[in-house]
Amino acid sequence: MELTLPAYAKINLYLDITGKLENGYHEILSLMQSVSLCDFVTLTLVPEENGEITLECDAPNVPTGEKNLAYRAAKRYFEAIGRFPKTHIRIEKHIPMEAGLAGGSTDAAATLVGLNRLLGGPLSLSELCSIGKSLGADVPFCICGGTMEAKGIGEILTKKPLMPKLPIVIAKKGAGVSTPGAYRALDALYHDFTDCNGTASEGCYDALLSAIESGDTDGIAKGTYNIFEETVFPYHDEARFLQAFFMENGAIASRMSGSGPSVFGIFQAEEAAKCAADRINRGAGEQIAFVTFPVSDSEEL
Ligand code: ATP
Repeated sequence: MELTLPAYAKINLYLDITGKLENGYHEILSLMQSVSLCDFVTLTLVPEENGEITLECDAPNVPTGEKNLAYRAAKRYFEAIGRFPKTHIRIEKHIPMEAGLAGGSTDAAATLVGLNRLLGGPLSLSELCSIGKSLGADVPFCICGGTMEAKGIGEILTKKPLMPKLPIVIAKKGAGVSTPGAYRALDALYHDFTDCNGTASEGCYDALLSAIESGDTDGIAKGTYNIFEETVFPYHDEARFLQAFFMENGAIASRMSGSGPSVFGIFQAEEAAKCAADRINRGAGEQIAFVTFPVSDSEEL
C-alpha cells in the first residue's frame, strides 16, 4: 500500500503574543494560511507487523530517525491504534528549513493523515489533531489547513473564510532564527507579557478578518502583522531587505512568517509576483524565492 500526499507550508498573515503561561509557553493570536509551496510525503506500508519505521529524505540536513517529526508522527500514530505495520516514509523537500514555514510540522501532519487514510480511517480528525499537538503546536493547523485562527499555544483552531487567491512570494535568505531565542528577546522587550493582551494596534485583527471576508485586498494589506519583526529585523539584514524589496516591487503587503526569517509578499497580479521572485533568485544565484497561492482546506491533505 502506498500513498503520496502534498504537505503544504504555512504562513502567518497575523501573529501576536497575548500572554505567557506559568509553564513558560506563550499564548498567541494568529491567522494562519496554507500555501501551495509543499513537500511531498510518500508512505509505503507492508502487511508485515514488525514495527519497523524507516525514513529517507532528498535534502541532506533533514534528520532521518527519531528526530524527524514525520517519523515521530508515525510512531505515535501506531501506538494510538495498537498496530505496527512495517512502514517507509519518503520526504521530497521543497519547503525551506528553519524558516518559520512549519516544514517539519507539515510533514508530520501529512504522515498522520496519510497513515489514517491508508488504514481505513480508524482515528477521527480530533484524535489526529491531539496526536499532532503532542508533536508540535503547528501540527494541528497543518492537519486542517486553509485559513484558520490559532489561539492558545496555537492549537485552538477556528476555521475562517479563505483569503482571496492572491499570489504570494515567499523568500528565505540568510541565517536561520532560533525560535526560543526570538521568544526570549520578546520576553525582555515586553516584560514577560505581564498584563499584556497583545501588542498590535487595537482593532487591527478584526479589521483583517473583515477584509478577508469581504475580499478587500487593501484591508488585508493593512491588517497583516507579525510581532517577531520587532526583534528579528534589527539584526537580520536579509529579512529586512526582503520586506523592503517586496514593497518596492509591487507587493500590497509584506511580512515575516512565524519567528522568521522567511518573508512573504502578497501581490495583486501573478506577473508582478513572478517578476519579484525572479529578481530575488537571480541576485541569489539559486532558488530562494517561490511564487505560491493560498490553499483551501478542501485542497488539503
Ligand atoms: P516552525 O515554523 O514550525 O517553527 P520551521 O519552519 O522554522 O518550523 P523546520 O523546517 O520545521 O523549521 O525545521 C526545524 C528543525 O526541525 C530542523 O532543523 C530539523 O532538524 C528538524 N526536523 C525534524 N523533522 C523535520 C522535517 N520533516 N523536515 C524538516 N526539518 C525537520
